[in-house]
Amino acid sequence: MTVSVVDEHAETRKLAAQVAEEVYAPMAEELDVTRTPISLAERKRLGDLGFLGIAHPERFGGAGAPLSQALAVIEEFAKVCRPAAFQIFESNTGPAQVINHLGTEEQRERLLPNIITGDKTMAVAISEPDAGSAATDARTTARPVGDDGYVLNGAKRWISNGGEADHYLVYARLSDAPGAKGIGAIVVDKTMSGVSFGVPERLMGFRGIPSADVIFDDVLVPKENVVVPAGKFSSLFGAFSIERMGNATMSLAIGQAALDKTLAYIQEREQFGKHLVEFQSIQMMVADMVLQVEAARLLVERAAHSGENGIPDPLQVSLAKCTANEMAKKVTDLAIQVHGGNGYTEEYGLERLHRDSHGWAIAGGTPSMQRIRIVSEVLGRRFDQRR
Ligand SMILES: Cc1cc2nc3c(=O)[nH]c(=O)nc-3n(C[C@H](O)[C@H](O)[C@H](O)COP(=O)(O)OP(=O)(O)OC[C@H]3O[C@@H](n4cnc5c(N)ncnc54)[C@H](O)[C@@H]3O)c2cc1C
Repeated sequence: MTVSVVDEHAETRKLAAQVAEEVYAPMAEELDVTRTPISLAERKRLGDLGFLGIAHPERFGGAGAPLSQALAVIEEFAKVCRPAAFQIFESNTGPAQVINHLGTEEQRERLLPNIITGDKTMAVAISEPDAGSAATDARTTARPVGDDGYVLNGAKRWISNGGEADHYLVYARLSDAPGAKGIGAIVVDKTMSGVSFGVPERLMGFRGIPSADVIFDDVLVPKENVVVPAGKFSSLFGAFSIERMGNATMSLAIGQAALDKTLAYIQEREQFGKHLVEFQSIQMMVADMVLQVEAARLLVERAAHSGENGIPDPLQVSLAKCTANEMAKKVTDLAIQVHGGNGYTEEYGLERLHRDSHGWAIAGGTPSMQRIRIVSEVLGRRFDQRR
């Protein structure tokens, strides 16, 4: 049940839902249990079907479609198989979009075609052990060496697809300027000498989406790999709004899937000789679920159409992400409650939705950090968290 006011991507959504249901849904539980990402062949299938390049330019093999179309596809996949949806998220809304918007034409030509076919993937490496919400406390350095390039040193934490991805868009200190002013972004390849990975994290959810530390020990990176020089952190975080839209959509999908399962269940399950749906307290809970999912959907749709030049408006994005993240946690919780004992089993997939909902609410900036951004944007003021 999707109560979208106008679904401008109904055809694409229908195709995506069909592929997701037939091909990827059957592998979802196994990927979660074994904590395994989808195979290269399955990723390339997503590429062959055009799902990895929806919001990328046609000249690199993409469809040149709007972000909202990619989000519709991400949602349909994320309802049934988050490890598959993650690949679509990463290519259409993740670091590849930073290359698309802020990279050089040479970088786009070199990197985007292989990401769009699914042959390669790129992860984003911002967080560090001592720099999470305070991303501008990052200590990873990229020091210039001669005219040739940079030497990278440091460690990144919680990197989704860490160890699996071929390329990493690394936020690093490219100058000695303090705080955000010194930070830029540089592409590091997995195969470069001095790149290593920590042991795979054992996360509560996000199983089937690997996570690991990425460590840089005197990694020599050519200067052609600098995507954003120091001093342009705001444009870097502007482009990160696209990733936050992918994140909000993952949460929307999780809430919608939990709601859909619940609507079916309350019309099947009987207690006291009646279907659960006949009990008024169940109706109140389910109405709350619908209210929250639909409110999140409207904010996500509005944010997806906001902004200019393909970069969504930061206020709209934070409103959407915060609402969708918190909605998914609450709605999956209610769904488990309405399903009783069945909700607590792995068989019904609700505990998996709930576990994943928490991950999306931390990744990409927590709801608390979105709230700070919301007030900042509404009032047109900056709030320095360090003073
Ligand atoms: C599943 C998952 C996937 C991730 N994927 C990636 C990835 O691919 N790449 C990457 O770079 N990072 C990734 N991250 C890291 C993520 O961005 C950080 O975990 C997140 O920004 C929070 O940082 P932290 O964990 O250090 O928490 P902290 O910053 O230590 O925050 C702890 C708590 O304090 C609150 N807090 C902090 N500062 C303030 C403040 N000023 N005001 C009010 N409250 C505050 C936070 O909201 C939070 O509740 C991922 C994380 C998870 C869980």
